Amino acid sequence: SVLGHRREPPHSSEDEESEEEEREDLAESSLLNKLLHTSLVENSHDVEVLQQDPSSPLFSIRTFEELHLKKELLQGVYTMGFNRPSKIQANALPILMAHPPHNLIAQSQSGTGKTAAFVLAMLSRVKGAERYPQCLCLAPTCELSLQIGHVAEKMGRFCNDIKVTYAVQGNRVSAGTVLEEQIVIGTPGTMLDWCFKRRLLNMRRICMFVLDEADVMIDTQGFSSQSIRIQRALPKDCQMLLFSATFKETLWKFALQIVSRPIIIKLRQEELTLTNIRQYYFVCRNWEQKYEALCNLYGSITIGQAMIFCQTRRSADWLSMKMIQDGHQVAMLTAELSIVQRAEVIQRFRDAKEKVLITTNVCARGIDVAQVTIVVNFGLPINRQKQPDFETYLHRIGRAGRFGKRGIAFNMVDSHSVHLVHCIEEHFRECPLFPCSPVPPVQP
Ligand code: ADP
Repeated sequence: SVLGHRREPPHSSEDEESEEEEREDLAESSLLNKLLHTSLVENSHDVEVLQQDPSSPLFSIRTFEELHLKKELLQGVYTMGFNRPSKIQANALPILMAHPPHNLIAQSQSGTGKTAAFVLAMLSRVKGAERYPQCLCLAPTCELSLQIGHVAEKMGRFCNDIKVTYAVQGNRVSAGTVLEEQIVIGTPGTMLDWCFKRRLLNMRRICMFVLDEADVMIDTQGFSSQSIRIQRALPKDCQMLLFSATFKETLWKFALQIVSRPIIIKLRQEELTLTNIRQYYFVCRNWEQKYEALCNLYGSITIGQAMIFCQTRRSADWLSMKMIQDGHQVAMLTAELSIVQRAEVIQRFRDAKEKVLITTNVCARGIDVAQVTIVVNFGLPINRQKQPDFETYLHRIGRAGRFGKRGIAFNMVDSHSVHLVHCIEEHFRECPLFPCSPVPPVQP
């Protein structure tokens, strides 16, 4: 049998375990997103542009040629495989490159081309022949800073005289150094140190200041005030740019403190829907029976790719062990893996090297499951109040409306939690969940 030998099923039920063992980390999911977005995220909405200055450029470009870039830079852009500007780039680039410079606040979901846009702007703004810092760029972590720098180095590979350096912990610069690199990318703390305490650069000569991942930034203790202190010391005519994936009220207040008289552009996020997803549920007594139901599905699961979500680390471990013991090839995504390792696991799965990916909630954030045909909730997502977590449910199973393919979702439900299924049905009306039996009916 596919089940192999039986072991004692655990006593505690999946839905009863709390998720507190796992903590959401915004900077981590941002980095994961960066590592995973190897191509642009599709979006069917139009970019909204709000401006305060009527003399500002409000056209959008269709090609990179229209920007009249230095030829080395245009070559760098094309070598990266960028044929046309993304939606956000088409609107942001004319603003970013305008003379005199314009301040900009831009919001769009991760993967829509913001980083490439401001990197291009930095590379085109700096004077390569001049050997001093001209652009400062802040990001919430060392890894994110390096990620931005990596894009700058790639895009600027034919601009031989432009150099990048990193104001991050661990990058030791000896006392008395005067920086020669035109672009300095780093975290607020170290940047503050380099600017004020160590005086490695002359802030009066900075002509562009970029604040990336502003939503993550304001979530981190001290980063907002450090960023503001840096901004205050920059020349009045320094171009200020702020980018964010989301926009809350608090972010808005922060953004306006950093960026005066901005042009604001926003690209609404594609909404998730359950319309094309067929949903089923199994009522099971324990993990063992859930596993049994899963095994009955397994034949059909391997037709495409499946993601299995567990509510806790413990159940994810248990399940993957069972599946591996039974000879299945599964990948597992856990919180112990570093972000880079996590990105590797996801990339392997995307390349279809494994057909099944087992994961817990937190690890799975940022994974685009559009290619996955089957989603299994080994436990229903619930919040601390033991109510269904609708957002997570939608996130796991839903697809972006216009681009989404069809999908199937299976929910394994503890016998005492059937009411959660009805709450979910009620919440997402018009998307019924169909009951299934965990064990196939006995053939006469
Ligand atoms: P964001 O900063 O909004 O998360 P990125 O600038 O990192 O987005 O872009 C997401 C992905 O799309 C990256 O892999 C990047 O190389 C790619 N990309 C960016 N701009 C373009 C473009 N104009 N054409 C094709 N790919 C692009």
